[in-house]
Amino acid sequence: MRCPYCDTEDTRVVDSRPAEDGRAIRRRRECSECGQRFTTFERSAVVVSVLKRDETSQPYDREKVRRGLESALADRHGAAASVDAIVADIDQWARTGSGVVSSEEIGRKILDALRQVDEVAYLRFASVYKGFQGASDFEREVAALEREQ
Ligand SMILES: [Zn+2]
Repeated sequence: MRCPYCDTEDTRVVDSRPAEDGRAIRRRRECSECGQRFTTFERSAVVVSVLKRDETSQPYDREKVRRGLESALADRHGAAASVDAIVADIDQWARTGSGVVSSEEIGRKILDALRQVDEVAYLRFASVYKGFQGASDFEREVAALEREQ
């Protein structure tokens, strides 16, 4: 592995121990060129499948989750900073299950997260996810939001 400081290829492992409750290995490496130390984590590359509504499946793609969040949060400056945290959260959730999640569950996770950070973004995402047909669908959803507060 290359040194992140000076980019030389010559680094060596000086310490190696289990991390994250045995699900990862944490290594300390030292660069023989510049002497800097850095940490790497080794994790198993779990493949998570996403079951879609039409019953086909495809590999889980965190970038899709990110794009969904980003388009819902477009122009919502205050809340846009939470995208990384929400993606990491959903990622973690997807990887700790049985290896299969449904696109519906992912959608619900995104909705739950958006409801916490930004109501406008929540309604934007809900309109796509729940297939709003008209103004009355929005009104119903806004009324539901208000009841919760
Ligand atoms: Zn170096």
